[in-house]
Amino acid sequence: MDTKPYMQDRAAEEFFSRLSEGKFQSTRCRGCGRVHYPPRVVCPECLSGEMEWVDLPCEGILLAFTWQEAAIRCRKPEVLGLVELEGVGNVFTRVDAPYEDLHIGMRVTFSTWTSPDGLVLHQFRPVGNT
Ligand SMILES: [Zn+2]
Repeated sequence: MDTKPYMQDRAAEEFFSRLSEGKFQSTRCRGCGRVHYPPRVVCPECLSGEMEWVDLPCEGILLAFTWQEAAIRCRKPEVLGLVELEGVGNVFTRVDAPYEDLHIGMRVTFSTWTSPDGLVLHQFRPVGNT
């Protein structure tokens, strides 16, 4: 039985493997230069299968956020947000900050977080908070 349903394809598997090493990376198409998030095996713009892995921006803008009372892996309540990475797109992510401290448009920075069951996930926190 597949116990890793979040790994939908080999690009996603590679993404989580790199993330577990602290690398926040995704694919860039060698054909058209487009950087994708989530990572792709085939470019949705030009259909090229020639990909290379590049660093994603480690800072972004918080576009929206919410919290959920019941969390599957994480302590609750868990804060989740949508972060815009310039030139890439939007990342749905865990947010490592109290809900009350957040506001739309604030700059946030990448880090990793390891769940109790050992899965390394990306998260963002407000710039300046360590
Ligand atoms: Zn392309």
